[in-house]
Amino acid sequence: MEYRQSMPSSLTEAVLAGADPAELAALPVPDHYRACVIHASDYDRVQHLPLEARDPGATVHLTEVPMPELAPDEVLVAVMASSINYTTVWSALFWPVPTFQFLARLGRSPRSFDARHNVPYHVIGSDASGVVVRCGPAVRRWQVGDRVVVHCNVVDDEDPWSHADSMLSSDQRIWGYETNFGGLAEFTIVRANQLLPKPAHLSWEEAAVNPLANATAYRMLVSPNGAQMRQGQVVLVWGATGGIGSYGVQYVLNGGGIPVGVVSSSRKAALLREMGCEFVIDRSERDYRFWRDDGAPDESEWRRFGRDIRDLVGEDPDIVFEHPGHATMGASVYVAKRGGTIVTCAATSGHWITYDNRHLWMKLKTIKGSHVANYREAWEANRLIERGRIQPALSTTYPLDAIAEAVRTVRANLHEGKVGVLCLAPDVGLGIEDPAKRASIGEAAITRFARFGSSSAAVNGEARA
Ligand code: NAP
Repeated sequence: MEYRQSMPSSLTEAVLAGADPAELAALPVPDHYRACVIHASDYDRVQHLPLEARDPGATVHLTEVPMPELAPDEVLVAVMASSINYTTVWSALFWPVPTFQFLARLGRSPRSFDARHNVPYHVIGSDASGVVVRCGPAVRRWQVGDRVVVHCNVVDDEDPWSHADSMLSSDQRIWGYETNFGGLAEFTIVRANQLLPKPAHLSWEEAAVNPLANATAYRMLVSPNGAQMRQGQVVLVWGATGGIGSYGVQYVLNGGGIPVGVVSSSRKAALLREMGCEFVIDRSERDYRFWRDDGAPDESEWRRFGRDIRDLVGEDPDIVFEHPGHATMGASVYVAKRGGTIVTCAATSGHWITYDNRHLWMKLKTIKGSHVANYREAWEANRLIERGRIQPALSTTYPLDAIAEAVRTVRANLHEGKVGVLCLAPDVGLGIEDPAKRASIGEAAITRFARFGSSSAAVNGEARA
C-alpha cells in the first residue's frame, strides 16, 4: 500500500462526511494518525513502584504514530469510537507484566507481518466502532465502506487448534493488549475475522463499548463453553453494574435466570434495580470482611454473605459470575450451590486465589475458566445487541484527548457500565442509521447507563453530586 503525507487527512474528512465506498477507496491513507500509546521507556520509571502507587493516567499518551502496513487478511478501520476496558488499565499500569513482553514475543514469530508489532510504543485499546477504509487482498466478506465493530480476539485461522473453539488456539491474542495498533486511535488494523456488523440503531460510542464486555459475558453465562445458564437458575454477579457485570445481569434476565447483583454503592444499587434486578446486595453497606487483618480468610464472613443471599432469594446460587479474584473467590466457592459452577474470567483484586477446597469437592462444585469469546460467540452476542435484546452499558463518553482521565476513572472504580471514548467522531450521538429501530427498542432502555454518567470532564457527563 502506498501512503502519502496528509494531516488532517482527507480520508478522515470523507469518513466523517459519510462518503461512499468508491470515494473512500480513492483517497490516500494518511501516513500518520493520532493514537493513545504507552511507551516502553515508561516501564523503567514505574517498574519499582507498588501497584497502588502507579498512575495509569500518567503513562498513557496521545501522540502521532506511523501508519502500519496492512497484511493480506487485515482491514484498516477508521475508528469513530472506542472504550476503556480493564486491559487498557492493566496496559497503562504495566501490570501484571508490561505488554511490551507480548509485542516482543509476537515480533520474534517467523510469520510475515508479526514483526511490525514490536516497536517501543504500544497503541492500546480493545474495542472499536468505525468504517472499513481498506481491505487486504485476502479479505473476502468485508468491503470498504462497511460500518463495523471490532471483536478483540486475534487468532490465526491456519492453526488447526483454532477451529473447534478459537479460544483454544495456542496463538490466541487480545488485540490492542497482546498485539499493537489497537482501538484507542483514529485508525486501527484488525484481521477480517474480528469484524462484526455495527448495530444500526446505535451511535458510534454506544456501538463501540459492547464487543469485548458483551462477548465475554455471553461466553461465561450463555455459551456451552461457559456455564450455559438454564432458566430459573440463580446467578450471583459480582460487579453487577461494572463493565462485564452489566452485560452479565442482562444475560441472566434474558435467559429467565434470577440475578443476585453485588455492587458497592446505593447509586449502583438503584441502577441495578432499574435494570430489572430484584435481588441486590450493596457490599459496602454490608461491609463484608472476607479477609482478616492477619491475611487469613474469615469463613464466618463467607457464611454471613451466604445467609444474606439465602435471606434474599431463598436458595444458593447455581452459578457465580466471578472476576474480582483474590478478594472474593473464597466466598464465591463457598456460596455456590451444591453442584454449582463458579465461572471466572479475571482477578482484578489479585491473581493468587485462596478457597477452601473441601467446599469444592465435597459439594461437587466446578470452577470454570473463561476468556473473552470465539468469533461465533462474539457474533451471537453482537446479534443480540442488533436485535435490541441486550443494551449498551455506556455511561460516560470522553474525547480522545481526555484519555488520561478516562483511564483513571475506570481504575478508581468511579464509573458504571462502560466508559466510551470518541476517536474520529466529533460528538456523541452520531452514526445512528436506523432511528425507527431505535425508537422501537426504546431510548430509555438504550441510554439507561448514560443517565448515570459520572464525570464532569466527559462529553455527556453530569457532575457527581
Ligand atoms: P469494571 O468495569 O471495573 O467492573 C468491575 C467491577 O468489579 C466493579 O464495578 C466493582 O463493582 C467490582 N469489583 C472491583 N473490585 C472488587 C472487589 N475487590 N470485590 C468485589 N467487587 C469488586 O471492570 P470490567 O471491565 O467489568 O472487568 C472486570 C475484570 O474482568 C477485569 O479484571 C478485566 O481485566 C477482566 N476481564 C476479563 C475478560 C476476559 O475475557 N478474560 C474480559 C473482560 C474483562 P462494585 O464496586 O460495584 O462492587
